[in-house]
Amino acid sequence: MRILIIGGGIIGLSIARDLYKEGFEVVIIERERIGRGASWVAGGMLAPQSEGLPINPFFDFCIQARDMYKSYAESIENDTDIKVDYWESGIFCPAYSEAEAEELKRKLEEYRKYGLTGGWLDRKEIEDAYKSLGPDIIGGVLYPDDSQVDNRLLMLALENYIRRKTMVKLYEGTTAVEIIHHKGKFQGVKTDKGLLVGDACIIAAGAWSGEIDNIPVFPVKGEMIATDIEPDDIDRVFFGSRAYLIPRKSYTRLVIGATEENVGFKDGNTVKGVLQLLNGLKDTLPHMVERNVQEFWYGYRPGTPDTEPIICEGKYENLYYATGHYRNGILLAPITSKLFVDLFKYGKRSRYFDIFSYKRFEEK
Ligand SMILES: Cc1cc2nc3c(=O)[nH]c(=O)nc-3n(C[C@H](O)[C@H](O)[C@H](O)COP(=O)(O)OP(=O)(O)OC[C@H]3O[C@@H](n4cnc5c(N)ncnc54)[C@H](O)[C@@H]3O)c2cc1C
Repeated sequence: MRILIIGGGIIGLSIARDLYKEGFEVVIIERERIGRGASWVAGGMLAPQSEGLPINPFFDFCIQARDMYKSYAESIENDTDIKVDYWESGIFCPAYSEAEAEELKRKLEEYRKYGLTGGWLDRKEIEDAYKSLGPDIIGGVLYPDDSQVDNRLLMLALENYIRRKTMVKLYEGTTAVEIIHHKGKFQGVKTDKGLLVGDACIIAAGAWSGEIDNIPVFPVKGEMIATDIEPDDIDRVFFGSRAYLIPRKSYTRLVIGATEENVGFKDGNTVKGVLQLLNGLKDTLPHMVERNVQEFWYGYRPGTPDTEPIICEGKYENLYYATGHYRNGILLAPITSKLFVDLFKYGKRSRYFDIFSYKRFEEK
């Protein structure tokens, strides 16, 4: 069975790798270079609890993905000999005001009742652990099971895997323009370089997915910066409302994110975006203003109207969508991929194909 995958981000490449391993013929269509879209831009937090997600089927999906990550990361490392720096550092969510503290404690209680871990720490319990702590921080919640991966290393590893597998057909610099169908069935993908045919197709084109098949996916722009870091600057991710701070396990950089704006595909870093991130850093760990800035960058989360993904059958038989992962696509890559292996290899259709169907928007 020949499966065409449109988009070489973490979603497309994870599905491609897993299906290839199961013996499927895989074709990847990528407009630019694989692994350089949102998946390269991201922070790499695996943070369903720190994100404060409501308890619902999507939250369960995220928790399952978090539980899968260790073995997902190890399996990619074993296949490629490239370390992806998965790090079970836990994530600390600082409260910069009483109102934020109340909300964080309420959420913590909700998660604990649901059987998840987490604990409140007063300011005095944390301030001695760091060289400096923003004056507004009155305490915060530590979620020990939230974690992180270095998403750039992960993308390099996935890219390495795909490039080494000569049986995976990779069309880079090739734009998918239109889905070709006949009598309600998928036939092929019209690209700017010609027609590619296959037995099935998965659209995994991130924030651009809506351009290919008119599904409600749109870009949510995010800006990021990175600074130098010393090992005793910070020992885990800080996920605050003013900024999140992600020390890489290698201590080569601190990644600081992220702004969020609905401005379409408007390129560039803005002064206000960079200022917001730098102020967030200063308000959290003030001594970090002494560090050198390494880089700033931006990208586009694949958003949907209800912030949940679109993973389901498409509008024609044998067409599928795996997109709209918004703020959690790094986290959700292994579980999204598993749904397609279960479907194609075992004929097992997950209930998530109904929960995350694009039809939920049409019904509304
Ligand atoms: C600033 C920021 C921070 C983030 N932080 C986190 C985080 O901490 N944790 C987390 O889990 N998630 C995070 N995310 C979200 C995460 O990055 C995305 O949800 C995820 O990368 C989406 O993966 P993807 O493969 O769908 O898209 P992408 O990685 O964008 O890949 C899509 C690919 O499709 C290609 N493409 C587009 N159109 C076409 C076409 N017509 N034909 C062929 N190819 C096409 C693109 O060139 C691109 O390579 C963040 C995102 C941003 C922007």
